Amino acid sequence: MRETTSKFRPEVLQEYLETLARAQSFQFSNARHWTLLQCYSELQFRLHGGQRCPVCNAHVRHVLPVIVEHNDGTRAEFPCLCTRCIEAERATSRVVITHLGQAHVEHYPIVYGEKTTDRRSVTPPLDSKKAKKAKG
Ligand SMILES: [Zn+2]
Repeated sequence: MRETTSKFRPEVLQEYLETLARAQSFQFSNARHWTLLQCYSELQFRLHGGQRCPVCNAHVRHVLPVIVEHNDGTRAEFPCLCTRCIEAERATSRVVITHLGQAHVEHYPIVYGEKTTDRRSVTPPLDSKKAKKAKG
Protein backbone atom coordinates (compact mmCIF):
# COMPACT_ATOMS: atom_id res chain seq x y z
CA MET A 1 0.00 0.00 0.00
CA ARG A 2 1.38 3.36 -1.00
CA GLU A 3 1.48 6.15 1.51
CA THR A 4 1.58 9.83 0.65
CA THR A 5 5.06 11.06 1.50
CA SER A 6 4.82 14.71 0.62
CA LYS A 7 2.28 17.48 0.37
CA PHE A 8 0.81 18.08 -3.05
CA ARG A 9 2.48 20.96 -4.83
CA PRO A 10 0.76 22.64 -7.80
CA GLU A 11 4.01 22.95 -9.75
CA VAL A 12 4.19 19.14 -9.96
CA LEU A 13 0.83 19.02 -11.70
CA GLN A 14 1.86 21.98 -13.88
CA GLU A 15 5.00 20.10 -14.96
CA TYR A 16 2.91 17.02 -15.75
CA LEU A 17 0.44 18.98 -17.87
CA GLU A 18 3.27 20.74 -19.72
CA THR A 19 4.80 17.37 -20.57
CA LEU A 20 1.43 16.14 -21.82
CA ALA A 21 1.18 19.16 -24.10
CA ARG A 22 4.80 18.76 -25.32
CA ALA A 23 4.29 15.07 -26.01
CA GLN A 24 1.74 15.88 -28.71
CA SER A 25 4.58 17.14 -30.92
CA PHE A 26 6.40 13.79 -31.04
CA GLN A 27 5.68 11.86 -34.21
CA PHE A 28 7.31 8.63 -33.09
CA SER A 29 4.84 6.98 -30.73
CA ASN A 30 7.48 5.05 -28.74
CA ALA A 31 9.18 8.33 -27.74
CA ARG A 32 5.83 9.96 -26.99
CA HIS A 33 4.69 7.04 -24.85
CA TRP A 34 8.07 6.89 -23.07
CA THR A 35 7.87 10.60 -22.23
CA LEU A 36 4.31 10.25 -20.97
CA LEU A 37 5.11 7.17 -18.87
CA GLN A 38 8.20 8.83 -17.36
CA CYS A 39 6.28 11.99 -16.51
CA TYR A 40 3.32 10.10 -15.05
CA SER A 41 5.54 7.88 -12.92
CA GLU A 42 7.53 10.91 -11.70
CA LEU A 43 4.24 12.55 -10.68
CA GLN A 44 3.24 9.36 -8.84
CA PHE A 45 6.63 9.27 -7.12
CA ARG A 46 6.27 12.85 -5.90
CA LEU A 47 2.75 12.21 -4.67
CA HIS A 48 3.12 8.71 -3.21
CA GLY A 49 6.82 7.78 -3.22
CA GLY A 50 8.29 4.71 -4.88
CA GLN A 51 8.13 0.97 -4.30
CA ARG A 52 10.52 -1.93 -3.89
CA CYS A 53 11.67 -4.06 -6.83
CA PRO A 54 10.04 -7.50 -6.42
CA VAL A 55 13.20 -9.23 -7.71
CA CYS A 56 16.06 -7.54 -5.81
CA ASN A 57 14.26 -5.29 -3.30
CA ALA A 58 15.99 -2.13 -4.56
CA HIS A 59 14.05 1.11 -4.39
CA VAL A 60 12.13 1.92 -7.58
CA ARG A 61 11.37 5.57 -8.27
CA HIS A 62 9.30 5.18 -11.45
CA VAL A 63 6.75 2.47 -10.69
CA LEU A 64 5.32 1.09 -13.94
CA PRO A 65 4.01 -2.42 -14.71
CA VAL A 66 6.43 -4.51 -16.78
CA ILE A 67 5.73 -7.49 -19.04
CA VAL A 68 8.68 -9.66 -20.06
CA GLU A 69 8.42 -12.01 -23.05
CA HIS A 70 11.20 -14.58 -22.94
CA ASN A 71 12.81 -16.18 -25.98
CA ASP A 72 11.10 -19.53 -25.20
CA GLY A 73 7.67 -17.86 -25.41
CA THR A 74 6.97 -17.67 -21.67
CA ARG A 75 5.77 -14.44 -20.16
CA ALA A 76 6.36 -12.83 -16.79
CA GLU A 77 4.62 -9.79 -15.33
CA PHE A 78 5.96 -7.52 -12.60
CA PRO A 79 4.26 -4.60 -10.82
CA CYS A 80 7.55 -2.72 -11.33
CA LEU A 81 11.26 -3.40 -11.82
CA CYS A 82 14.36 -1.42 -10.92
CA THR A 83 16.64 -0.23 -13.73
CA ARG A 84 19.15 -3.02 -13.13
CA CYS A 85 16.50 -5.76 -13.31
CA ILE A 86 14.88 -4.20 -16.41
CA GLU A 87 18.27 -4.20 -18.15
CA ALA A 88 18.90 -7.79 -17.08
CA GLU A 89 15.51 -8.90 -18.42
CA ARG A 90 16.08 -6.86 -21.58
CA ALA A 91 19.40 -8.59 -22.23
CA THR A 92 17.97 -12.09 -21.82
CA SER A 93 14.45 -11.72 -23.27
CA ARG A 94 12.81 -11.19 -26.63
CA VAL A 95 11.07 -7.98 -25.52
CA VAL A 96 10.36 -6.05 -22.31
CA ILE A 97 7.17 -3.99 -22.35
CA THR A 98 6.57 -1.11 -19.95
CA HIS A 99 2.92 -0.17 -20.05
CA LEU A 100 0.20 1.90 -18.49
CA GLY A 101 -3.25 1.95 -20.03
CA GLN A 102 -2.94 2.24 -23.79
CA ALA A 103 0.57 3.70 -23.62
CA HIS A 104 3.24 1.06 -23.85
CA VAL A 105 6.94 1.10 -24.69
CA GLU A 106 8.81 -1.93 -26.00
CA HIS A 107 12.46 -2.43 -25.08
CA TYR A 108 14.39 -4.86 -27.27
CA PRO A 109 17.80 -6.33 -26.46
CA ILE A 110 20.71 -4.07 -27.32
CA VAL A 111 23.05 -5.43 -29.97
CA TYR A 112 26.36 -3.74 -29.22
CA GLY A 113 28.26 -2.61 -32.29
CA GLU A 114 25.18 -2.97 -34.52
CA LYS A 115 25.57 0.51 -36.05
CA THR A 116 29.34 0.48 -36.39
CA THR A 117 31.32 -0.60 -39.43
CA ASP A 118 34.56 -2.53 -39.48
CA ARG A 119 37.13 -0.07 -40.87
CA ARG A 120 40.22 -2.19 -40.41
CA SER A 121 40.32 -3.10 -44.10
CA VAL A 122 39.63 0.47 -45.35
CA THR A 123 42.70 2.51 -46.27
CA PRO A 124 42.51 6.08 -44.95
CA PRO A 125 42.58 8.92 -47.52
CA LEU A 126 45.84 10.85 -47.78
CA ASP A 127 45.98 14.03 -45.72
CA SER A 128 46.07 17.11 -48.05
CA LYS A 129 49.26 18.55 -46.41
CA LYS A 130 51.08 15.27 -46.74
CA ALA A 131 49.90 14.98 -50.35
CA LYS A 132 51.38 18.46 -51.16
CA LYS A 133 54.69 17.55 -49.54
CA ALA A 134 54.83 14.34 -51.50
CA LYS A 135 54.27 16.24 -54.81
CA GLY A 136 56.58 19.21 -54.22
ZN1 LIG B 1 15.62 -5.09 -9.10
